[in-house]
Amino acid sequence: MNVLVTGGAGYIGSVCTEELLNAGHQVTVYDNLTEGHRSAVDPRAKFILGNPEEEGNILAAVESAKPDAILHFAASALVGESMMNPKKYFHNNLVNALKLADAAVACGVKKFVFSSTCATYGPPERVPMTEDLPQRPINPYGEAKLMFEKVLIWYREIYQLDFIAFRYFNAAGASEKFGEHHRIETHLIPNVLQVALGHKTHVEIFGTDYPTPDGTCIRDYIHIKDLAQAHILGLQPGKSGFFNLGNGDGYSVKEVIQMCEKITGKNIPAIEKSRRAGDPPRLVAAANKAFTELGWKPQYPKLEDIVKTAWAWHRKHPTGYAD
Ligand code: UDP
Repeated sequence: MNVLVTGGAGYIGSVCTEELLNAGHQVTVYDNLTEGHRSAVDPRAKFILGNPEEEGNILAAVESAKPDAILHFAASALVGESMMNPKKYFHNNLVNALKLADAAVACGVKKFVFSSTCATYGPPERVPMTEDLPQRPINPYGEAKLMFEKVLIWYREIYQLDFIAFRYFNAAGASEKFGEHHRIETHLIPNVLQVALGHKTHVEIFGTDYPTPDGTCIRDYIHIKDLAQAHILGLQPGKSGFFNLGNGDGYSVKEVIQMCEKITGKNIPAIEKSRRAGDPPRLVAAANKAFTELGWKPQYPKLEDIVKTAWAWHRKHPTGYAD
């Protein structure tokens, strides 16, 4: 298929672009490079330097790429930041996504693949979490993603824009070529590995008084290449709707730090801090729907392997991408 990937210079988008190309798809990447890196774009892809704020820019990109499908990764993705700057999140993750959906409708694009999030659920009534749980986000990041999920439901019904929306749990790990480099890093695993690399003296643990066995938040970490494979399966005809993507195993912040110590062989000092606003205590996926309906089977379900691939990438790129 001919696919347009927004955010293809970012962490998840770069690895998905690589895997789409490996699977024989044609890819055009649209990215404004505010978060992404030009050198994270697979050289086999066409690249459009986007400016989503400019009137007509998104539509022009869709018109020129003429894609069969759009994979929309471009977004702001930090829960903590969304609590301080909600405007940025509603603008980037809702308003700009809407412009893209309108362009998809105008250009007769067959399918829209949307990067949603487990943050749309808020603190769940039960774990592991199935797709039918009530969605009550507790941060603007999750709220904006949920609002756009609703847009997609109406656009499918009224404009026949077919969609698949993946609710990612915590993307982690790296491919051989592409990994996680945010200019301001707030995610747990790369922050911990920064300590192992000697770039930071310690990692901070945000909250040790959660209702979990060791008091720290529990998350479900999913390998980036496994996420990418789900997107490729989602492009098959007849695949539609909402899917959780996670491994079904929860690891606490302290367990992640211990795993990073084991893999890197380094001591990682940790300082206990207060809670970060907007963090639900425990998010763990039930991804059975993706297993049965898409035939998805994660290849790297173990946290150990996820951290190993992240560590291999960070050691090869100790300061991340050059640009
Ligand atoms: N976290 C932490 N220290 C850090 C970064 C994150 O304690 O330096 C915690 C964070 O509060 C959350 C978990 O680790 O409970 C995962 O956070 P991350 O930002 O990686 O992903 P999120 O779940 O927010 O998408």
